[in-house]
Amino acid sequence: MNRTNNVILKDAQFSRSNDRIEAIMFEIILKHIKDLIYVMKVEENGSFSYVFLNEEAKGHAKLTNDSIGKTLHEVLPAETATSLHNQYSSVLEKKEPISFQDVVVLTDNKVVHGESILTPIFDENGNIPFIVSVTRDITARVADKELITYMAYHDPLTGLPNRSSLKKDLDHAVEQAKKGHKKLALMFIDLDRFKFFNDSMGHIAGDHLLKEVGKKLASINHEDYKVYRQGGDEFIVILSNTSSEGTEQFAQQVNQEFKKPFVLEDKEFFISASIGISTFPSDGMEGEALIKNADTALYRAKELGRSLYQYYNPDLQKQTTHLMQLETGLRKAIEKNELEVYYQPQLDLATNKVSSFEALLRWKHPTLGFVSPAEFIPIAEDTGLIFSIGEWIIQTVCQKLKRWKESGYLPVSVSINLSPKQFQQPELIKIIEKNIELNQIFPESLEFELTESAMQEPKKTMETLAKLKAIGVRISVDDFGTGYSSLSYIKKLPIDSLKIDQSFVKDVLSDEKDAAITTTIIHLAQSLGLSVIAEGVEEEKQVEFFKIMGCHKVQGYFFSKPIPEYQLIEHYLTNN
Ligand code: C2E
Ligand code: MG
Ligand code: MG
Repeated sequence: MNRTNNVILKDAQFSRSNDRIEAIMFEIILKHIKDLIYVMKVEENGSFSYVFLNEEAKGHAKLTNDSIGKTLHEVLPAETATSLHNQYSSVLEKKEPISFQDVVVLTDNKVVHGESILTPIFDENGNIPFIVSVTRDITARVADKELITYMAYHDPLTGLPNRSSLKKDLDHAVEQAKKGHKKLALMFIDLDRFKFFNDSMGHIAGDHLLKEVGKKLASINHEDYKVYRQGGDEFIVILSNTSSEGTEQFAQQVNQEFKKPFVLEDKEFFISASIGISTFPSDGMEGEALIKNADTALYRAKELGRSLYQYYNPDLQKQTTHLMQLETGLRKAIEKNELEVYYQPQLDLATNKVSSFEALLRWKHPTLGFVSPAEFIPIAEDTGLIFSIGEWIIQTVCQKLKRWKESGYLPVSVSINLSPKQFQQPELIKIIEKNIELNQIFPESLEFELTESAMQEPKKTMETLAKLKAIGVRISVDDFGTGYSSLSYIKKLPIDSLKIDQSFVKDVLSDEKDAAITTTIIHLAQSLGLSVIAEGVEEEKQVEFFKIMGCHKVQGYFFSKPIPEYQLIEHYLTNN
């Protein structure tokens, strides 16, 4: 047998068993194909019964070999059966294949999305004895699509609808308001000092807080409103179908919510929010204008002192330039010699003498006059200008100390405030060392004031404080009692003194709680061997209180306001 013959023989074999092979082939395909294949017989009474199911079809719809010969209604839940029955009937009517998507609820309540093609099989008379149904399970595809749509319109952190959602909804809400001649309000809500919280508590805590804020805003007891996360710490609320009273009430409800603490990992935090409000139709006929104007109003609310709500009015546009004016001015303040250091004396209660001062920055703006550090330090922090301003004040104080020493004045110490950003600045230690060395001053004549919020990250705080102590400067905790730190944490830090915050001092004589807190801080300081200073002392009786309690020093208007250098020299450095 030659090679050619062999091939011929094989071909002949194939052709003889062609039918059988074809049958096996189909069986394999039907077994492994992932689509659900049913062949239905068209019964004389117009019902449809199963004549064939592939494996996938059996598994999927909980059909078995027993289903063969049974009708749709005998096998499937009534609703599903009726809907399928109608589709099969329409194949008979149209006499051509049809395709459709549907949702099938299976007996175990599982929901399946299917995409089906029903194809009629004709006999020689043009009748349709069978219909083949091929169904693809597209549940996963539908779910993906839903997820993608969800993600496109929601913020992943808070789960709130996002900016894209806002745009869509706002345009729609404005249209509705136009049609129905209804009022609509848009509120721009921004957390106060969130950046500060984030910087001092870390991003994880920051994210956590944003989530909690989102929850709080979404659960206010008020009708017809929806909250969106605009981005960062900004949220937007659309109040549809509202009135002036309704809007006002909502703004107050938001403010009220922010008076309650947020609980993050068992700790309570207070954070306030400012709100800018614009209304349709008076402040804008389109969504975009409403957002812009609410933003302008928000800016004003922040300027006026945070934790407020402010309605838009066209005059605001002019006023917001104030903040920009400050920012631009601050950039040039150093070179234009507009900054000056004032000094506030601290009275030693044991000796009744003054040998230490707090350096407080003063800025004389050419047109705006004196600008309070409470106003410009936050701007300096936000813009990063705090680094150059902070270095300038360290340099200035060190030069003054040198000059006073050279002039033979009485030795004094000066404390300098460090903002949280400065404290975290890697160059801080070098800057301090350089200035001490350059001016040949005693390190112990310098003190640095830090707020609790600057010292939230334990490891870094320890490192930096240790380096400061190695230089030999003193460290105090400013505004003590207002921050987030625990006493057990403070105890571990290498600090020299605590400054009791003015807010406790103010009512120490009339408010029992403030008196109790103050007393506790003084006792704590004593037991830790720290010195303690009361800030913001304005009355003689307060001085008496602190003397009796064993507080070391007081600082405040009762004794002296912050004063310029020449007065300091005159009153405190020269022994006249
Ligand atoms: P602070 O460090 O807590 O400073 C105390 C503030 O209380 C000062 O306000 C001071 O003038 C004021 N004060 C003193 N005695 C009294 C009093 O008896 N009654 C009342 N009501 N207030 C009193 P000032 O100078 O406006 O400074 C505000 C804040 O700005 C400071 O609070 C400090 O946090 C910050 N600051 C000031 N200078 C600097 C600076 O050079 N660098 C940094 N980073 N922050 C500074
Ligand atoms: Mg201070
Ligand atoms: Mg203070």
